[in-house]
Amino acid sequence: KHLCKDFIAGKDGLLSAKRTIRAVDDVSFDIMRGETLGLVGESGCGKTTTGRLLLRLLDVTSGSVKFNGADILALSPPEMRAMRRDMQIIFQDPFGALNPRMTAGELIVEPLVIHGISDAVERERTLRRLLNLVGLSAFHAGRYPHEFSGGQRQRICIARALALEPAFIVCDEAVSALDVSVQAQILNLLQDLKHELGLTYLFISHDLGVVRHISERVAVMYLGQIVELGLRRSIFDTPAHPYTQALLQSVPSSAKGRKSFFTIKGDVPSAANPPSGCRFHTRCPIAIPRCSSEPPRLREIAPGQSVSCHLAGTEPTLDTASV
Ligand code: SF4
Repeated sequence: KHLCKDFIAGKDGLLSAKRTIRAVDDVSFDIMRGETLGLVGESGCGKTTTGRLLLRLLDVTSGSVKFNGADILALSPPEMRAMRRDMQIIFQDPFGALNPRMTAGELIVEPLVIHGISDAVERERTLRRLLNLVGLSAFHAGRYPHEFSGGQRQRICIARALALEPAFIVCDEAVSALDVSVQAQILNLLQDLKHELGLTYLFISHDLGVVRHISERVAVMYLGQIVELGLRRSIFDTPAHPYTQALLQSVPSSAKGRKSFFTIKGDVPSAANPPSGCRFHTRCPIAIPRCSSEPPRLREIAPGQSVSCHLAGTEPTLDTASV
């Protein structure tokens, strides 16, 4: 609730040149047990930072994070270490995330070793089960990361994340580095594991197609804030925020027979100096004078759909022909 994260950016170590960048600004949402919440937005909008704040991989500037009712920001280091068994992360780069000097088997059971869980015999049994779960076999256990394809490496990362039997996994651009055909395999694997093991995901991606495929609800971020949050069908069928509408219209679609791509005008402003009022007003095609001075707040406009826009629910949707 009300999560904020500031980074201090400096130039050449000069104190006078240092400035505070608010990467995440007053972000609040819930994730229900067993659901997948998609978190989508352009690069640099704060979605990865948000995911890491939930796991306390970054210090929170202000706000709170509750997991199963426990305030994780109040936990001592040993308590947080124990809590980490329930909360795991899968990163974008499956090669960079794996120690090249360790075999797949060693990598997968390493979390059990770190947490001092089970003996060697039990770990061997767990390793076989995890390899099987992610579509690999004992044959792969003795091989090193460079001997695997990108998709296989991501399967190792997933097996490693599952080793501690977590309840919640942050998938941070988990398929973005993979070829499209391999993306589909990994997405299907994540779906199957979710149903089989009762997992809950925060699925972070800049790819709307991927988010649509895997999420039950979707949060859209822009410049450190959530601008729209709702059920998948609300976000994709009746988007209410001009930024969500523009994002969807930017997706290439042969079905719509368009010959040119719609683009959102202007560049994303700097998080170090965000626009006043509504942060999207410098790019919004339907902005009104109020938008540049008064920040909109996230409000529910329909069951299961909340939007941060002064005009949401009162105006017609974005007409791209006028942009
Ligand atoms: Fe556009 Fe104003 Fe709505 Fe912001 S509040 S999205 S600028 S109409």
